[in-house]
Amino acid sequence: MRIDTKCVQSGYSPKNGEPRQIPIYQSTTFKYDTSEDMGKLFDLEASGYFYSRLQNPTNDLVAARICDLEGGTAAMLTSSGQAANFFAIFNIASCGDHVISSTSIYGGTFNLFNVTMRKMGIDFTFVSPDATEEEIRAAFKPNTKAVFGETIANPALKVLDIEKFAKVAHEMGVPLIIDNTFPTPINCRPFEFGADIVTHSTTKYIDGHASGVGGAIVDSGKFDWTKYPERFAGLCTPDESYHGVTYTERFGLEGAFITKATAQLMRDFGAIQSPQNAYYINLGLESLSLRMKRHCENAMKVAQFLKNCDKITWVKYCELEGDEDFELAKKYLPNGSCGVVSFGVKGGRTAAEKFMKNLKLASIETHVADSKTCCLHPASATHRQLSDDELVACGVSPDLIRFSCGLEDAEDIIEDIKQALEV
Ligand SMILES: *Cc1c(COP(=O)(O)O)cnc(C)c1O
Repeated sequence: MRIDTKCVQSGYSPKNGEPRQIPIYQSTTFKYDTSEDMGKLFDLEASGYFYSRLQNPTNDLVAARICDLEGGTAAMLTSSGQAANFFAIFNIASCGDHVISSTSIYGGTFNLFNVTMRKMGIDFTFVSPDATEEEIRAAFKPNTKAVFGETIANPALKVLDIEKFAKVAHEMGVPLIIDNTFPTPINCRPFEFGADIVTHSTTKYIDGHASGVGGAIVDSGKFDWTKYPERFAGLCTPDESYHGVTYTERFGLEGAFITKATAQLMRDFGAIQSPQNAYYINLGLESLSLRMKRHCENAMKVAQFLKNCDKITWVKYCELEGDEDFELAKKYLPNGSCGVVSFGVKGGRTAAEKFMKNLKLASIETHVADSKTCCLHPASATHRQLSDDELVACGVSPDLIRFSCGLEDAEDIIEDIKQALEV
C-alpha cells in the first residue's frame, strides 16, 4: 500500500460482520476463564489483554497504523509526546548513562533532558544540528546510549541531517532516536534515512484538530542491540521483574524495544493513552495526508508573502529558496515539510506582541499544528523558563513568532497578517 492508502487502511481489517470503524474498548480490564490463562499473559508467554495500563486493543490498532505509516516493526501509544520521548530514552538509558541530543529541539523536551532527566542521573550533551561528523563523534562518552534529534525542530524549524547523525551514531554503536512530529510520516519517514526509533507528539498534525494530547513510539527493528549486550543490558539480559525474560531473545529485534517499554515503563509509570483519545487520533490519521498537503501549501504561500513584505525582518521556512535548510529539505522533505513558518516583525519583541494582539483569524495559543491557524511568541510563552542563552542555543530568537498555518483559505490567512501588520 502507498502512504495515502495506509492512512485509511492500515492496522485494522474487520472480519465478516465486524464494525467498519475501530471499536473503542472503553474497559480497564479483560475477563479470563482461568487463572492459568491470565498467568500466561503476566509472564508474557501469551499475547492478549488484561489491564489497560499495559495494553488496550483500541490503542494497539492505532499504534499499528502509525507503525505501518512509519515503516516500523512495532509501536505503542503514550499519553503525550513528552511521555513518548521520555520512554524512548529511558528504555535504554538509566542513572549513570549519557545521551547526545541536537540543541534544536522542542522546549519541553529540552527541559525534560536538561533538568528532569539529569536529576535522574542521566547526563546529556547538546550538539548543534550543524555539527560536523567529527564534532558529533567528539561528544561521545563510553556510557553514551543514544543520539536524539527532531526532523524539523519545533519552533526553530531547523531540518536535521538525519543521515549524518545516523552514520555517527551507528559507528559508535548506539541508536538514533528521531522526533518526527512536525513532518509526520506523510512528509518524512526517518527510518528510510537510518533512524532507529521514531517518536511523535500525536497532539499535533496526527490528531490535527486540537482534540487530544498523545504520543507514540515506533521501532524500526533494525538496531541490533545484541551486538552490544553490555551497553543494552536491559534488552539483552534477563528481566527479573518478568520471570527472567530476555527481550531480544523472546521478541526478536523487531519487538524487543517496544515490548520492554510496555512491560516495564508503561507498567511502572502508567503514562497510557485513553482508548477514547486513541479513537480521535485514528480519525486524524485517516485524513492526515490530505491535511498535510493543505497545511504545506498554505505555509508556502504565507512564507512567500512574508518574504516579500517590508515589515518583516526575517522568515524561516525550509522550502523557501535561499533558506539555510533548502538543500536538506529537498533531500528529506521532497513532498512538503510542515505548516509552520517562523518570522520576526520589524520592531522586535514589542512589535511582535502588538502584531499578535491585532490578528483576528489567527489565535494566540501554545498549541501548534492543527486545523485552525494559530501563533505563539515562544520567548514569552512555551520557552519562558529558558534563559536568553538557552533560547539562542535552541535557535529561538526573542523576536521569533511561530505561525502555524491551518486549513483555511490561504488568502484569508494572508489578509489577516496584512491587517495586523498595518496596525
Ligand atoms: C509538542 C511536542 C512535543 C511534546 O508533546 P506533548 O504531546 O505536548 O506532550 C514533543 N516534541 C515535539 C516536536 C513537539 O512539537
